[in-house]
Amino acid sequence: MEPLKYLAGYPAPLQARARELIRQGRLGAMLAAKYDQAHDVRSDGQLYDYVQALKDLHLRRSVPLGKVVYDGKLQVMKHALGTHTAIARAHGGRLRASREIRIASVFRDAPAPFLEMIVVHELAHLKEAEHNKAFYQLCTHMTPDYHQLEFDLRLYLTCLEADQ
Ligand SMILES: [Zn+2]
Repeated sequence: MEPLKYLAGYPAPLQARARELIRQGRLGAMLAAKYDQAHDVRSDGQLYDYVQALKDLHLRRSVPLGKVVYDGKLQVMKHALGTHTAIARAHGGRLRASREIRIASVFRDAPAPFLEMIVVHELAHLKEAEHNKAFYQLCTHMTPDYHQLEFDLRLYLTCLEADQ
């Protein structure tokens, strides 16, 4: 059987369960019931404020935010759930790191907890470049149910593609 691309890293029984729900046409409804909270972060300006507020809460002392935008061309998985680009800028004769955060535009219409999850993911990259243990500790520090949310987000993306 073909692997589910968004769930490739997860145990086979979980993938089988997801596949079964898709086959029965129930995955979309299940997720919609669990995640019925929309958000109103529509524009890039609103997104910037949203990211800045979370950063102030958890990572006040890390590098300042650069540009923050929704990106319609971003493929979620290809870019590992968003991109984070370190841009070095000459600033007063010294190099100063500034960070650009791009969030795939699919999150504009996604349930609020998924937007929070992806923003937390990208903020964690301000401190940790790799998806290592320290990175995920940072994620769960900011959002305790991070792992469940990431899994459910992957189900959500699977669902969108299966058009359910
Ligand atoms: Zn990442």
